[in-house]
Amino acid sequence: MSYTNFTVETDADGIALVTWDMPGKSMNVFTEEVMNELDAIIDATVADSAVKGVVITSGKSSFSGGADLSMIKSMFTLYQQEKAANPEGAAQKLFDLVGRMTGLFRKLETCGKPWVSAINGTCMGGALEMSLACHGRVASNAKSVKIALPEVKVGIFPGAGGTQRISRLTDAQSALQMMTTGQSLNASRAKAMNLVHQVVDPDQLIPAAKQMIKDGLKPIAPWDEKGFKVPGGGIWTPAAAQLWPAAPAILRRETSGNYPGALAILKCVYEGLQVPFDTALKIEQRYFTQVLQTTEAFSMIRSLFISMQELGKGARRPAGVPKTELKKVGVVGAGFMGASIAYVTAAAGFEVTLIDRDIEAATKGRGVGEGLVKDSIGKGRLTQEEGAALLARLTPSADYADLKDADLVIEAVFEDRAVKKAVIEQVEAVIPETTIFASNTSTLPITGLAENSKRPDQFIGVHFFSPVEKMMLTEVILGKNTGDRALAVALDYVAAIKKTPIVVNDVRGFFVNRCVFRYIHEAYDMLIEGVPAAMIENAAKMAGMPVGPLSLNDEVAIDLSQKILKATVADLGPKAVDERHLALINKLVDELDRRGRKNGKGFYEYPAKPAKKFLWPELKILYPQKPADEIDVNTLKQRFLVTIALEAARTMEEGIVTDPREADVGSILGFGFAPYTGGALSYIDGMGVKAFVELAEKLASSYGDHFKPTPLLKDMAAKGETFYGRFDPYPAADKAA
Ligand code: NAD
Repeated sequence: MSYTNFTVETDADGIALVTWDMPGKSMNVFTEEVMNELDAIIDATVADSAVKGVVITSGKSSFSGGADLSMIKSMFTLYQQEKAANPEGAAQKLFDLVGRMTGLFRKLETCGKPWVSAINGTCMGGALEMSLACHGRVASNAKSVKIALPEVKVGIFPGAGGTQRISRLTDAQSALQMMTTGQSLNASRAKAMNLVHQVVDPDQLIPAAKQMIKDGLKPIAPWDEKGFKVPGGGIWTPAAAQLWPAAPAILRRETSGNYPGALAILKCVYEGLQVPFDTALKIEQRYFTQVLQTTEAFSMIRSLFISMQELGKGARRPAGVPKTELKKVGVVGAGFMGASIAYVTAAAGFEVTLIDRDIEAATKGRGVGEGLVKDSIGKGRLTQEEGAALLARLTPSADYADLKDADLVIEAVFEDRAVKKAVIEQVEAVIPETTIFASNTSTLPITGLAENSKRPDQFIGVHFFSPVEKMMLTEVILGKNTGDRALAVALDYVAAIKKTPIVVNDVRGFFVNRCVFRYIHEAYDMLIEGVPAAMIENAAKMAGMPVGPLSLNDEVAIDLSQKILKATVADLGPKAVDERHLALINKLVDELDRRGRKNGKGFYEYPAKPAKKFLWPELKILYPQKPADEIDVNTLKQRFLVTIALEAARTMEEGIVTDPREADVGSILGFGFAPYTGGALSYIDGMGVKAFVELAEKLASSYGDHFKPTPLLKDMAAKGETFYGRFDPYPAADKAA
């Protein structure tokens, strides 16, 4: 029998080698068709008396990424469609769909013939769950092998037996840690946790897997054997009495109760370990069905998986512009940003010329790359040879003539119109006609900068975030005259350096910084009102933000906030900023020299390491504080999320961002907007625009006009619309396909 996604070859010893290799995909994933074929392979190998056992591996460099999340998204859609007519029937249908994978893996586990999973590369989610249902697991010791159950990161949890098998193979604490964080394990860590049986050299993988079968591997899972004992003794032991009361508290500390998927993992393990295995699988299936019905799971899968992938693959790339083959990139300005931009560009395989005013400054910028390479070698992410090759691609220079064959030039010189003008002219004097010029400016409009260019259609903004090597987002900014080819080249470049782009129209603060400053300004308001600083920071984290607003302001520098406020006043008049904010910042910067982390004093104090930073105690003298129990934490949480979401809605209303996927992904990758919401616009859609408008109006009546809902939101509320409905990112043609 032949299959689309697998090949099966049985050797002279009667061992069937099943190789999973999906046509036309770079990575194997579980789809409906894959599940049906695996099901058929189980039946065929059981029926074939010549087959003694089965080894399953992958024909690709990775093993598999797990379930195709688009399949899970379609389950949501189906559920939503059926729910209106028949809520109970819809839930039952969802429950049955969810059980498909669980049942398939259980069938494999109990088929009566031994199966061994030969893990040759990344093995995630459903693929690890399938491997755990195999009777043996051998992993290659290649660096590329990463083993994980990362479902929690997209709002769900391992729902195909993962919670039950992991907790029966390793101790409960390690199991919980692995699943609630979604952390990746290398092969040796997976072996230490008893999740794989052997770790071998890559070329020994298949022989070792086959040998397990030849050595008489029993086709019975440990939990199906009589007398099976859970590692650590299960729930009713002194050790468990230490672990279980603390586990929900630790989870709450880490997630503030915002992630239903993470909590379900605890419930599944705790309840599942007390019952027979098949009952435990049912428990898991029920919780999975429940979590799939949450707004959090729906929104996280949409933004953090589907939209992110679509944007990364060039959803906003203009059709009809052929893919560009970039070879050489010039970076002008080897300072804080330019040095790191040059490094990530060279790391992606491009030749890079890094220019500064003199060769010393350019060489210093290359030194940043050298430090990052050294770090990566130390952490085992790069070999010595890879590091040397990367640095060989990064050439410092003070001679603009070296840009003569660059396909793309990115400038990251001082944030000063005159300096940038001179650089644009110098660069354009040497580059070929076809070269695209990108500015990394964070505040200057691209249209204005492009006036210095002889070819404004080839001029674009590519706005990086710091630290460049870690931040996954870039804003691609369209000036008034930016042409399609410039956009296509910029998006091809961003894809090549493996970052996610959002395309933004040209306006002060672009998208991310506009939203970020709303977050920080809300904290200023709270301080001025007398909310204790610690409460401000904690409420923000409880709302799901990764970093408190005061801490964030210290990181971006308080004098930068001052500069931006002053520039806003200069350009738009004094009414454009809140004068109390300006007074607060002027006092901190001009009178107290508190500029943030960079000078060791800001909203926080920064004592010498290893001591930790702490909130500057005199803030409470500056702004007398109300007693904490007079302040409602929930309202503080809402204020942070609502003020950012309103700003994101304004950017849609003003046409700065045109696609809700970009606002959502940009808000999560750009400044960590509460990921469980799926992003700033999904937060609004998730509660319903009408409810959001009511909440915003309520906040406006107590905390200021900046909370007033915009005309767009009111119109959407009246019509019962959502952002993803009104600004539907999928053209009708895509839907028909
Ligand atoms: P920086 O001061 O660290 O670096 C600027 C570099 O440009 C310096 O090395 C300087 O010597 C060089 N330079 C100045 N004039 C030059 C010229 N004529 N020719 C060649 N080199 C010249 O500044 P930065 O923080 O790296 O910022 C650079 C740009 O990136 C600015 O436009 C800024 O708005 C933007 N940006 C900064 C951040 C951030 O977090 N710092 C984030 C995003 C964007």
